Amino acid sequence: MKARILAIVIIVLCALHLNAKPYVTTQDVNVRSGAGTNYELLGTIKDGTTIEVTDIKGTWGKVSFSGSDGYVSTQYLKDEAEEAAPAKSKGNSTTIIILLSVAVAALLAFILRKQIAAAVSKSAEKVEDAVHTITEVQESSYWYNCNQCDAVKESLDTPPATGCTNTKKGPNHNWFKIAAAGPTHYQCQKCGILITSAKLPEANGCSRGPDPLHSWEKF
Ligand SMILES: [Zn+2]
Ligand SMILES: [Zn+2]
Repeated sequence: MKARILAIVIIVLCALHLNAKPYVTTQDVNVRSGAGTNYELLGTIKDGTTIEVTDIKGTWGKVSFSGSDGYVSTQYLKDEAEEAAPAKSKGNSTTIIILLSVAVAALLAFILRKQIAAAVSKSAEKVEDAVHTITEVQESSYWYNCNQCDAVKESLDTPPATGCTNTKKGPNHNWFKIAAAGPTHYQCQKCGILITSAKLPEANGCSRGPDPLHSWEKF
């Protein structure tokens, strides 16, 4: 929005500036009461004088001369700022091109800034999602096993007790927290359960043999 306002302000300022433009005379020039050689001669302006041209009619520029309006031929004027030919059409088109360039650049900057802002917030969202996912994985990354039915489950908290298939010992699982989940496969050589962990899982909770310790080996 600021860029748009700036562009408009620049255009308005430049448009105002067009109405009164400084020129330099390239030789002694006659000042006449109207835009033509048939008008009354009011006097002359010396070569190299800077004058304000407030309006241009064809090849005649309107100037203030001795307190009244006068006209001088633009062929003896040089644009002070651009050192270019003072013909109105040429000066105007150059100014319009500059104005358009400024306006387009301002607009592009505005659009680009909006797109960058959108892209930044989008990637920030993605990072947040990724962090969230990692956090979730870390939070729910424990392996539990039941030493009655040999069930294994990856879960954030101890899984529900109901639903054990070893009915001899009752309907409830007897869960043991054995390891945080990770990339390496481990298998108990006694009960055969298989899990993935970053390090050697806990030994307790095995359902086989006289002692309740799992015997883990990398799978
Ligand atoms: Zn069970
Ligand atoms: Zn085991």
